[in-house]
Amino acid sequence: MELATLDGLAPREYEHHLDQKALDALEKTAGLDVLVKKFNDFGVERFLRLEFIGSNLKITPSSLPDVYEILEEACEVLNLKTTPEIYVRPDDYFRKLEVTTNNLEGITVGVNNPVIIISSICLETFTNSELRFILGCEIGRLKSQHILYQNIAWIFPTLSGTVSGLLASIPGASLLASSISGGLYLALVNWLRMADYTADRAGLLACQDINAVMTAMAKIAGLPKRYFDSFNVDDFVTQAREFEGFSDNTYNKILKGLSLAVRDQAFTIARANELLKWIDSGNYQAVLERKTKIQAAPPPSFCRHCGFKIEVAHAFCPNCGNALSA
Ligand SMILES: [Zn+2]
Repeated sequence: MELATLDGLAPREYEHHLDQKALDALEKTAGLDVLVKKFNDFGVERFLRLEFIGSNLKITPSSLPDVYEILEEACEVLNLKTTPEIYVRPDDYFRKLEVTTNNLEGITVGVNNPVIIISSICLETFTNSELRFILGCEIGRLKSQHILYQNIAWIFPTLSGTVSGLLASIPGASLLASSISGGLYLALVNWLRMADYTADRAGLLACQDINAVMTAMAKIAGLPKRYFDSFNVDDFVTQAREFEGFSDNTYNKILKGLSLAVRDQAFTIARANELLKWIDSGNYQAVLERKTKIQAAPPPSFCRHCGFKIEVAHAFCPNCGNALSA
């Protein structure tokens, strides 16, 4: 299948409005700036990056040429100028780090030098077209500058424990402690789920094959390998369409109720439901045909590279110098 290259594609053409809404709520939550500062002070980004590049197999044009080609192609289609490094990891790797994500999804760490990591089971499970979706999702996270808050959310339980311990004797620490035990984690996890909706759209734009995206999602949702050839994807599409969706309130209740356990849930049916709604609205086709009209984005209140709090409107971050809009 010939893929359309989406010239000049900007993330605002396809970002989900609930992603933006949850991000606004997150950035208004007390304690975020302190948490980001601790994340940077402890060098967590560097640690995460080193953990991965020091442990996993690098995918290059000569080591796994077909996989590398899919990544390059997806970057070109989605208008990401620099192809990030990519590694493949053993499947249980994340459990050891106490970072829980679904094995059938990619992971991206590092804001300034991003690295994409996929599990070896991804390569055994997905067809090339499905893999294009999986990698497209990660490229979408990079384009929308999701990485800083996503990485913070993953290591939040570890980081908050360490921070609380270290801060016990420091003045002002009680504010951080109460924020952490209060709404901050909830706001982070809520945003993380809404950010998935944006990533899925980028994945579809990279893959450009709705059936392949739906079979990939059916596999993430639990389709066993023995049914890969016989499964009728229409059944999955019907299930996703019939899903009633989460209202903001139900969603918040679920998150509060499940607390940390929620990190294990991929909410794949909810995600497929949202993606189908976007396709049905005609907006997916409009982006493909380069007919999207985009409105100017509101100025960000935090730099998504370094987490610096932006008090007055700037084009570039006064702390790290990176451009503030995606
Ligand atoms: Zn910055």
